[in-house]
Amino acid sequence: MKQMFCVGNWKMNPSTARDAFRLAEAIAEKTKVYTRVTTVLCPPFPFLAHLSSLSVTLGAQDCHTEQKGAFTGEVSPAMLKDQGCRYVVLGHSERGETDQMVKEKVRAAVRVGLVPIICVGEEKPGTPDVLQERLRLRLEGIPAQTLSKSIIVYEPVWAISTTKEGRGASEKDVSSALLLFHSFLEEEVGQRLGSAIPILYGGSVNEKNILSFLRAGAQGALVGGASLSPKEFGSIASSMQLYEHI
Ligand code: PEP
Repeated sequence: MKQMFCVGNWKMNPSTARDAFRLAEAIAEKTKVYTRVTTVLCPPFPFLAHLSSLSVTLGAQDCHTEQKGAFTGEVSPAMLKDQGCRYVVLGHSERGETDQMVKEKVRAAVRVGLVPIICVGEEKPGTPDVLQERLRLRLEGIPAQTLSKSIIVYEPVWAISTTKEGRGASEKDVSSALLLFHSFLEEEVGQRLGSAIPILYGGSVNEKNILSFLRAGAQGALVGGASLSPKEFGSIASSMQLYEHI
């Protein structure tokens, strides 16, 4: 059975370091038994150092393309590594970045040993051609050695809980999108490397719908809103632990 990934994107939450610590502690307690699941928490930058004493795997929500220099307000991959991060979410639609920018960030992250979690998704439902093109624009040309050290997330913009449409994709939507992802990756980096790249789903994942995304073939999930509830996030991780068909 494959390793699963349960990634919590806390976005700009919670408001204090103290609450962040409590939340991470409660999640660690709920998820520590799920050995098949790599649980990654991605808090806001200022909380990373506060959480490094806990036994949680940390990720960041973004990084810069350079490792140091005159870039006011930015945080480099090397700094994240130093703070104990192992993963970094890149290209989240809420950041509105260009595909070129995302590619450069992916390279910079892998250079220091971070695992990029790259978001790719279309703006409107029922537009597979747009999704195919987005995949190409966002991932084409990233060296095979770099892409094979990454995790990809199919995250349709319209499925994110805070958007206007704000409903999760259906099992069918996700399984047809994942087919596109698999064939793109295998063409890009070859069958052996391509089939080993984990592909997750993100967008309104909760404890009730997680199974449908696993059935669609996702090797885990990027979870926004539901990652702020230890109970719900723990229950999502538990479904991943128990899912036997991947
Ligand atoms: C996200 O924005 O990465 C996300 C998955 O959010 P939500 O689960 O709240 O839709």
